[in-house]
Amino acid sequence: MITIADRLAAAQHRIALAAQKCARQTKDIQLLAVSKTKPSSQIIEAYHAGQRAFGENYVQEGQQKILELKPDFPDIEWHFIGPLQSNKSRIVAEHFDWMHTVSRDKIAKRLSEQRPAQLPPLNVCIQINISQEDSKSGTDPRHMLALAAEIDALPGLTLRGLMAIPTDTDDVEQQNREFAALKDCFNELRQAFPEVDTLSMGMSGDLEQAIAHGSTMVRIGSAIFGARDYSA
Ligand SMILES: *Cc1c(COP(=O)(O)O)cnc(C)c1O
Repeated sequence: MITIADRLAAAQHRIALAAQKCARQTKDIQLLAVSKTKPSSQIIEAYHAGQRAFGENYVQEGQQKILELKPDFPDIEWHFIGPLQSNKSRIVAEHFDWMHTVSRDKIAKRLSEQRPAQLPPLNVCIQINISQEDSKSGTDPRHMLALAAEIDALPGLTLRGLMAIPTDTDDVEQQNREFAALKDCFNELRQAFPEVDTLSMGMSGDLEQAIAHGSTMVRIGSAIFGARDYSA
C-alpha cells in the first residue's frame, strides 16, 4: 500500500528535481501540505513522516483541526489559504500562523486588530490576481505596493510575500506567462520591502513550473493525501 509518508517523500523528490533543474537549492523551497477536507488522522500521519506546515481552506474546518491537534502537536505551523469573508477573520487571526489570501486593506486591518497580543504577528501574503479575471480573487498587481505598505504598517501582521492561484489551464504557455508575471511582481515587492521572502505558488499539477519561476513555497494537496471527495 502506498502511504502518506511515501507520497510525501515523492513530493519532496519532485521538489528536489525541479530545484536542481533550475540550479536552485531545495532548502529554499518549502512544502506546504494542503490538508483541506482530510481528517486529522492523515495530518498526524504526515506529521510523523516529518511534515510540519499544513494548509487549510475552510475557516471552521481549519479551526476544528487546530483545536484538536494543537495540544499534542504544538509545533505544527498552520496556514490559511482559502477565501476569507470578513466576518470570519477573527478565527484566522486567533488560530492560524499564516494567512495567504489577503487582498484588501479592510481584511488586513481586521486581522491585525484581532490578532491576540500574546501571539507573534500573523504572517501574511498578498494574493495576486494575475489573470486579472474579475471572477478571480486577489489584488490587481497595480495595487500591490499600496496594499503592501498598509500591511507593513500594521502591528499585528508581518508581510511575508505573495500568493497566487494561476488560471487552471492545459495551455503551458499561458501558465508560464502567468508564473513569470508573478515572479516580476515578487521582484518588485522585494525591491520595496527587502525583508519579504515568500512566493507561494505551485500545486500538485504544476509545482515544477512554479519552482522554475521562483516559487519558495509550493502548496501540495492531492499528491500527498489523494484526491478530495466533495460528495459528502
Ligand atoms: C486545494 C488547494 C491547493 C492544493 O491543490 P492540489 O492540486 O490538491 O495540490 C493549493 N492551493 C490552494 C489555494 C488550494 O485551494
